[in-house]
Amino acid sequence: MHTNKRQALIHRLIEVGQLPERLEGVRMWGGPGSERPCATCGEPIVVSAVEYELEVDGRTIVLCVPCYLVWRAEPAGA
Ligand SMILES: [Zn+2]
Repeated sequence: MHTNKRQALIHRLIEVGQLPERLEGVRMWGGPGSERPCATCGEPIVVSAVEYELEVDGRTIVLCVPCYLVWRAEPAGA
């Protein structure tokens, strides 16, 4: 998946409130993949890969590393 496609998806998820806009107040941790689909690209994160888990308003959001990095790089309010 191209980075700009990923960015567009992340923008959309932030817009609809599925992803937080900023890092502050978000509990998150990384670990081995658990075969759950990434919340952004929908790709299952294999055990040999790293997944990031975010806890937002009691919901758990799973992101793969490329999506996580794009999300982190998003300027707040963009
Ligand atoms: Zn992803």
